[in-house]
Amino acid sequence: MSRVLLLILFILWMAWKQDIPLNADSWRPAEVGVYLAWYGVLVGAMRLWSRWVSRQIHRGNISRHLRRFTRAMFFSRVGVVVWLGWGLFGLGWGDFVLDVMGPAGRWSIQTPAALVGVLPALLAWAGLWWSQYPADRALREQSLLSALENGLPVYSPPGLRSYLKANLRLQMLFTVVPVVMLLAAHDLLMVAVLEPLRITPQERPWLNFGLLLVASGGIFVIAPEILRWVLHTQPLADSPLRRRMEELCRRHKMRYRDILLWRTDHNMGNAAVMGVIPRFRYVLLSDLVLQTMTDEQIEAVFAHELGHVVHRHMLWYLLFVLIFMFALIGPGQWVESHLSFQWLGHWVSRDVAQKLVELVLLVGAGATFLLSFGYVSRRFERQADVFAARTMQGEAMAPMDRDSRSHVGAHGARIFQSALHRVAVINNIPVAARSWCHGSIASRMDYLENLSQNPQRTWAFDRLMSRLYLAMILGLIFSLAWVVKADSLQQPGPGTTTGQEYSW
Ligand SMILES: [Zn+2]
Repeated sequence: MSRVLLLILFILWMAWKQDIPLNADSWRPAEVGVYLAWYGVLVGAMRLWSRWVSRQIHRGNISRHLRRFTRAMFFSRVGVVVWLGWGLFGLGWGDFVLDVMGPAGRWSIQTPAALVGVLPALLAWAGLWWSQYPADRALREQSLLSALENGLPVYSPPGLRSYLKANLRLQMLFTVVPVVMLLAAHDLLMVAVLEPLRITPQERPWLNFGLLLVASGGIFVIAPEILRWVLHTQPLADSPLRRRMEELCRRHKMRYRDILLWRTDHNMGNAAVMGVIPRFRYVLLSDLVLQTMTDEQIEAVFAHELGHVVHRHMLWYLLFVLIFMFALIGPGQWVESHLSFQWLGHWVSRDVAQKLVELVLLVGAGATFLLSFGYVSRRFERQADVFAARTMQGEAMAPMDRDSRSHVGAHGARIFQSALHRVAVINNIPVAARSWCHGSIASRMDYLENLSQNPQRTWAFDRLMSRLYLAMILGLIFSLAWVVKADSLQQPGPGTTTGQEYSW
């Protein structure tokens, strides 16, 4: 979730840069100072709160304080995003950055200005980890005891440096590196293709769009090769467990480049899969997962990642983003042109009303994206859970008894539930804690329990997912058709005069 927020920082910058305002009253140094100081105030206040919470933990009353603090931390991160948005659209932060950058800010080149523009927000983002550290550390110290009781290996809580480094790699670089690659690819296309041909993006929006699509497709495909270094991984050594996982992949015809050990200094128990094509596809298992879970549990976690590949979730996510993009260009612009706050004219000026329309659209689009993305993501996670439970069920059977139309049985559900529960323990996540993109661990465990009681329920879930995929395909066709139609209406036909020509 927080990675999505990080992405929004860049989207805000790009959205603002789209229509560079011409009213660049440059900021005075004092105004810049006040604007940036707000980030500092936020980080400082959260740090104080965090230290207070850490003292409460040592006194033994955790959960309520911690819940509040976690929620406040989430809203602080939202606050960083909102502050940048307000700075850009309301206060003139963007104009200031472009001014400071001089000619570099006005070029068709995007990367340098974008980086400078979002830099304070990124620094505040990292500052919030520093704020969070005391509370996290105290919590980890507390959970050492329960780890000992559960017979799990015990690792001392990470130092501040290791904590910051792990978060920097996992959260920030994981998002920022692909975005910067994308921006750089855009700049390269501008300089190497469009400028020599003397074409501006405005003249040939479809050519520009097509080139960008090709560039982002290329980066999407090769990103795992770079992210495997960003995330600090190494090939997983050969072992009976590794061979069993390889066998599992062979059986499901899943091809990949390598299975990787993900080194987090025991900060995090997690697994992931990345890459749409086998040549650049990696499955990652973190050090904490490998050292604190049983082989059967690790295999179940691995099967969950395999489920994401088998059901092609990466491609469906890509489709989701495309649908959203087309929906913004097509139906979104239609809404914008029909949404006027003229009735506000009695109270505010036209400029303010226009700004309000933009704000409502921005918030509306953002909320729609987060809600629908959360929904789709939770469905995909559930489908991967179901796949894992089915697979573990099948593992226990003789090959000839494996049903092609398998379902979640009690055995498979139990193994995957135990793996989920262990993930919660090693990461200090309460099982009831809600997660936007995954759903709570408790709800995931309950769901499998429910499915395992009747095979029909698994198949009903399969039908639900088929309908979701069908809806996404229809959504793509619909939004694309809208964009194409709206575009053809805007092309002036022979004999018509556009407003511009008329006034000339
Ligand atoms: Zn997953």
